[in-house]
Formats: sequence, structure tokens, C-alpha cells
Amino acid sequence: MQRPLMRRRAPNLEKIAPRRLRDPLTRSQMMGRIRSKNTVPEVRTRSAVYALGVRFRAHVTDLSGKPDLANKTRRWAIFVHGCFWHSHEGCQLASKPRSNTAYWSEKLVRNQERDALHHRALRDLGYEVLTVWECETRDESRLRDALAEFFDELAPKPGGSLKATNRPARR
Ligand SMILES: [Zn+2]
Repeated sequence: MQRPLMRRRAPNLEKIAPRRLRDPLTRSQMMGRIRSKNTVPEVRTRSAVYALGVRFRAHVTDLSGKPDLANKTRRWAIFVHGCFWHSHEGCQLASKPRSNTAYWSEKLVRNQERDALHHRALRDLGYEVLTVWECETRDESRLRDALAEFFDELAPKPGGSLKATNRPARR
């Protein structure tokens, strides 16, 4: 058999077409991409943090909840959360499934509880924790502003403020 001369680009199955060009995702498709690494929102968040000149590690598996970005020396962690999976309050992307509602609400509540535990565990260790929502990563400048604000608050103020040096661990 002869191969075609022009090889088509390998289909990129991870690539998600804009909403208007595709059918709504089925729940199992949603589930399928939920736990995957390097989702579009994660990549956008990482680029934005990188552009701010802030050092970090990605997918920090030895911290509670495996933050998507973290810096253990400076004690901050960022979770990039899918709006559906983590029940972003009041968010369009977090609409509740209409079928199998008991199953889903239990699952989603468990996720919320787990998130809260992870965040508390990190705060107990003196970490500042930020949640970046999937929907927030769609607006580049909004994302950058939110991240800049987070890191500004972390930075020790010139002259050494009490806040930076003498801060009790938040509960
Ligand atoms: Zn959202």
C-alpha cells in the first residue's frame, strides 16, 4: 500500500475547539479531561506567573492537594480549578448535571471538602493559597492582575513590615 505523500498533521485530541464550534461535552468527556495535567487553564496560569518573573514548580506532588504551582521557599501555592469539578459558586461553567443528580452532588461536595482540607493543611504550614478558576483564565489581563495582586501581598514590603516578617499562621 502506498502512503499519501502529504502527511496530515497528527490530530491533536487534547485541543478543544471553541464552544460555539463543538457539541457540548458529555459528562464522561468532562471527567476524562478533568484530572489531566497541562489543561488550558493551567498552561495559561503558568505562563502568566512566569511572565511576572515569579519562580515556581509545577505539579508539586509532595504538598497537600498537589498544587498546580508552588514555591516551597516562599511558601505559596496556587490551585487551578475547573469550575465544574470544583463547583465554582455562581459560575456558568459549574452548572449542575440534570441527570444522576445524587451521584454528582455527592461527588462534587466531596471535592469541595477535599479542597478545603488541602487549603487548610497548607495554610497551617504558613502557605498563602490562591485558587485560580478556569473561567478567570479566559481573560488574560484579569488573570495577570489577580496573580500580580497575590504576589504583591506576599512580597516583603520595603523596610520590612510586620505583615511579612511577623505574621502568625492563618487558620
Ligand atoms: Zn468559574
